Amino acid sequence: MSNTAVTEKRIHNFSAGPAVLPLEVLETAQKELTCFKDEGASVMEISHRSAAFEAVIFGARDRLRRLMNIPENYEILFMQGGASLQFCMIPMNFLEDGKPVQAINTGAWTTKAIKEINKQGSCDSSLSSEADNFRYIPKFTTEDVNANASYVYITSNNTIAGTQWENFPDTNDVPLVCDMSSDILSRNIDVSKFGLIFAGAQKNIGPSGVGIVIVRKDLLQKSKDSLPTFLNYNTHVKNDSMFNTPPTFAIYMMGLVLEWLEDNGGISAIQEKNEKKAAKLYDFIDNSEFYQCKVKKDSRSNMNVVFRINDDESLEKAFVSESKAKGLNGLKGHRLVGGLRASIYNNLPEESVDALISFMKDFQEKNQ
Ligand SMILES: *Cc1c(COP(=O)(O)O)cnc(C)c1O
Repeated sequence: MSNTAVTEKRIHNFSAGPAVLPLEVLETAQKELTCFKDEGASVMEISHRSAAFEAVIFGARDRLRRLMNIPENYEILFMQGGASLQFCMIPMNFLEDGKPVQAINTGAWTTKAIKEINKQGSCDSSLSSEADNFRYIPKFTTEDVNANASYVYITSNNTIAGTQWENFPDTNDVPLVCDMSSDILSRNIDVSKFGLIFAGAQKNIGPSGVGIVIVRKDLLQKSKDSLPTFLNYNTHVKNDSMFNTPPTFAIYMMGLVLEWLEDNGGISAIQEKNEKKAAKLYDFIDNSEFYQCKVKKDSRSNMNVVFRINDDESLEKAFVSESKAKGLNGLKGHRLVGGLRASIYNNLPEESVDALISFMKDFQEKNQ
């Protein structure tokens, strides 16, 4: 099959995750699949201790450091277990006796993380937008920080509720820990504000199977030797993320996406594209009487746009199946909230947003 044939069959992919990857990246992987560089074998078939794979993993690590401007006093780890392992691993390493975690609960993923924190200690999650179905990000400033907390925990982008933190609070001496699974690399952030940032790769950075942890070096002293070896961050620091066999293919793919991102102008360029895509879609929704976005304007996500059609579930069902028939996939809202959701991550081309808006106009005309 020629590459054009493959291209023609590709959908407009609004999947929430695993999500769309750049076509150029997939084509590079396709070309290199059976023979990677001079190895005479696929990247999946060579030792993770080989020079060829070391170039892949360290290359990806260096690119991430450059792209996000990660200061030298931070370690970058590639880990398995996705974002979900971090929900329990962070408190295992950093929750101190008698010092609660302060979590700002902004959605289903934060709720899951809080559940794991509570198994190991206490969590103050009084600041929450749950009573309003997580439709906004609560105001949280330096004065609201509990100075006795082990750390402050937040989720920067709420994949299911469709909200996103616009600014990050200064938490002074209390480390700020952030789940950035669904918006990492989508905008410029100041890494030095955070104690730890983590993300599963499968929304913005690559395939599932690998997770990223960016952690400030001084925090690593808190991890106790009594922890299981694998669950102590220091193990992965000491072994360059290769304590055990890493997910080599996922790391290779992630490296290709990071290379693509650097070649296309880095974070500033992608941020501009992301803002443009999101503004187009929100403007269209806000100017229509047929579609509604109930997320508070100052809290709206540039990654996951959630919307409804007059809370009419049967019309929404028709929207999902008709859009799919037209090659627009993944528009069903998360089962927890219903409705519709367009995930418009870094790697979704602007043409796909245009195609969606055009479909939405047609659907509205037929059904209003
Ligand atoms: C997808 C997602 C997760 C879960 O990631 P896994 O890699 O499946 O564990 C956690 N947090 C957020 C914000 C997500 O979007």
